[in-house]
Amino acid sequence: DGTPVAMDNHWMPFTPNRAFRAEPAIVARAEGVHYFDPTGRRILDGSSGLFTTPAGHGRREIAEAVGRQLMELDYTPSFLRGHPRAFELAGRIARLMPPGLDRIFFANSGSEAVDSAMKIALAYHRARGEGQRQIFVSRERAYHGVNFGGVALSGMVNNRRTFGIGLPSAVHMRHTHIPENRFSRGEGEHGADLAEDLARVAATHGGESIAAVFVEPVAGSTGVLVPPKGYLARLREICDRHGILLVFDEVITGFGRTGRAFATQAFGVTPDLITMAKAITNGAQPMSAVAVKRAVCDVVMNAAPEGGVELFHGYTWSAHPAACAAALAALDIYEGELLFERAAQMSAYFLDQLFALRDIPIVTDIRGIGMLGGFDVAPMGNPGQRGHLLQRRLFEEGVHIKTTGDAAIVAPAFVMEAGEIDRMCETFRTVLKAL
Ligand code: PMP
Repeated sequence: DGTPVAMDNHWMPFTPNRAFRAEPAIVARAEGVHYFDPTGRRILDGSSGLFTTPAGHGRREIAEAVGRQLMELDYTPSFLRGHPRAFELAGRIARLMPPGLDRIFFANSGSEAVDSAMKIALAYHRARGEGQRQIFVSRERAYHGVNFGGVALSGMVNNRRTFGIGLPSAVHMRHTHIPENRFSRGEGEHGADLAEDLARVAATHGGESIAAVFVEPVAGSTGVLVPPKGYLARLREICDRHGILLVFDEVITGFGRTGRAFATQAFGVTPDLITMAKAITNGAQPMSAVAVKRAVCDVVMNAAPEGGVELFHGYTWSAHPAACAAALAALDIYEGELLFERAAQMSAYFLDQLFALRDIPIVTDIRGIGMLGGFDVAPMGNPGQRGHLLQRRLFEEGVHIKTTGDAAIVAPAFVMEAGEIDRMCETFRTVLKAL
């Protein structure tokens, strides 16, 4: 009837965040490291969107590449009629991977990449005559997305319990965050001991019944849990001993967040599969990918179809031309502006400012690596209440970050200047003190 539609969640109530449902916060524009609300108020983006825009918002090169691509070739079903940009992008991503992890499957979200990796793992074992390997192991404080597979893997019980037996079987290890690792930048010791959780799971369930272990090299959405030294290497050893595939979910850590191209390089441990999404297009298009070891891929692809191994897996939007164009333009920026190197250089400054918050009494722990930091606030009232309040007050004071429970997650764009990091951390200090 011509009345403007109200921006309340009458229309779109499906958000995991109850408070947002009641009172949505709106942004209308973004540029560089800032959002702008509908009144033009400027908000510093301390989360790179949601780990998505390390090169800053509104990069013209990417927008133009997407526009050009849509005029040249807007859509093709990529599993039937391929297109040049998809192959070019697969090659570019493979070059960022450790040697041998060079077979690429494209999907459209982190959740889809995770479910795809689970199916590839099951297909691999079946092709080897080990179809009994049906169990997935992941960690209690893990987040792997919202599709059925990812929900089963994610340790967070609240995300899972509504769906019960509809979920694939998954067994959870404990999370990696240990007291010795307090105020750590990942240098904590005793990591190898923690990995013994996996050895215990293998002993209980039988190593030969486990298909894959999924881990975020640095658990992101559950509060930036930097693993202690030796932890990931020990997981690799235990997986090898039992013929279990190791999957790194690098949806957050991929594309420079740790100061290296991928966390696999930052920790010097090579998994069998890597999932990636978020920063793959610098936020300009939905896209994700799974990188698969050539040796694993060969087993699946060369299996005799009569053996029953066919993946029958692909998405209408897989390798969408506009997403490929966006990702190629984003990679041009990352590489041309040496942004992964810049993330490594800015890391010390960023983490110094963040760790300086340790003198605030309600800050109980701080963690970080590269351009990824997290800190906990002491709970107040219900669990998560103070964390939520922190996030809301920060937004009012002009800083956008994500919180999860009573943990804050900070992930600035790699292009953020020192002065902006100062302003962000000063705002943290002011708001934390008032809380
Ligand atoms: N895996 C990890 C490690 C993630 O952090 C996320 C998203 N936060 C996902 C998977 C799911 O990605 P998406 O929201 O794109 O489906």
